[in-house]
Amino acid sequence: MATPPTQSLVLSFEDARRVVEDHASQVAPHGSEAVDILHSASRVLAESIAADRDIPPFPRSTRDGYAVRSADLAKIPARLKIAGEIKAGPLPGKVPATLSPSETFSIMTGAPVPQGADSVVMVEYTSLHGERVEITKGVAPGENIVAQGAEAQSGSLLLDRGTRLNETAIALAASVGKSRLEVFVRPRVAVLTTGDEIVKVDAEPGPTQIRNSNSYSLAAQIQDAGGEPLVLPIAPDEPRRLRQLIEQGLQSDLLLMTGGVSMGRYDLVEQVLAQMQAEFFYTGAKIQPGRPVVFGRVARKYFFGLPGNPVSTMVTFELFARPMLEALAGMSPRPLLFLHARLKSEIHIKAGLKRFLPAILSGQFEESLVELVPWQGSGDIAARSRSNCLVVIPPDRERILAGEWVAVMPR
Ligand code: AMP
Ligand code: MG
Repeated sequence: MATPPTQSLVLSFEDARRVVEDHASQVAPHGSEAVDILHSASRVLAESIAADRDIPPFPRSTRDGYAVRSADLAKIPARLKIAGEIKAGPLPGKVPATLSPSETFSIMTGAPVPQGADSVVMVEYTSLHGERVEITKGVAPGENIVAQGAEAQSGSLLLDRGTRLNETAIALAASVGKSRLEVFVRPRVAVLTTGDEIVKVDAEPGPTQIRNSNSYSLAAQIQDAGGEPLVLPIAPDEPRRLRQLIEQGLQSDLLLMTGGVSMGRYDLVEQVLAQMQAEFFYTGAKIQPGRPVVFGRVARKYFFGLPGNPVSTMVTFELFARPMLEALAGMSPRPLLFLHARLKSEIHIKAGLKRFLPAILSGQFEESLVELVPWQGSGDIAARSRSNCLVVIPPDRERILAGEWVAVMPR
């Protein structure tokens, strides 16, 4: 449902996130292309991938040792005759090897277990005595063997369309012979920064001018989320030029604007979008940083108006724009995940907003500790840079004690 921008619609964090997820579930990427598996990292699969044969394709030994019939080791120690050696790779002689009672094959990790054997004894529990091996530990049937097809059966689904290719997915694709992969085309995301005080990164700023950092942090986040950023010229706080640039941005698949969405007299983004008959799904979220965040649609394209304060821009991208962009990139939806850590020192804060505050996660192994970084508010990029996560504080808490568990977004 659309609301005019004069009527502000401020949602809780959870509702604002859900609204994006609902819209994200209705978008699709623009087509696909084939890429070499070497250049497929972080791309999103546009095809599903099935096992081309059983995995493993033969019963595989997981140890260096001796392939045995477990029944031959009922009495320990036992001496078995060595019938031969099986290494990983092509088998010499008759394929597959067959094990007779009271015999054993010496076998290497990754090699096919001979027919008749039901387990492998680790070499550590054996000693050689001429043509025989003495075994000092019994085994259960199946021990140290992965049965044929136990990891995946021929024809079964391994990777679904919509999977983002990380190293594991790439290894799985390689294991079934996919040297080229069909992946979705990356969505193009326009980035439009607004503000009369903002100058280009390579300009010499006047005493009250601010260099544009938001376009670059956003471009990095867009790439990380699977999109292709298109950075537009900086828009002044002037409606006609702003509208021109918004129209240009709407040629892309998604438009991200920063700045000009607060309550100031020159915050024109919402006004201009309203003149363009935009629908507004919300014009604020009860969060800090990032309260003035705007989400809407105009000319059948989705847009986000992200607040101009640099930390707000980065945080609201992660919380709201990322799921839309990932959906446009063809990724299956995934939940926002949080870690938990113990708070190192007490926090006092005003209730009413859900906070995502820069913090440092430290500690060893399972003893994670987290502590807020002192900061000057949502414009303080330097403090954010000293942090390695955001601590999430629910809107109803005013005081959180040292030692309490808190939710953390590691980033
Ligand atoms: P606004 O959301 O337009 O009210 O801007 C809030 C604050 O963020 C102001 O201090 C701006 O100067 C600053 N700001 C806005 N856009 C950018 C940008 N692209 N890069 C760095 N700072 C910005
Ligand atoms: Mg501004």
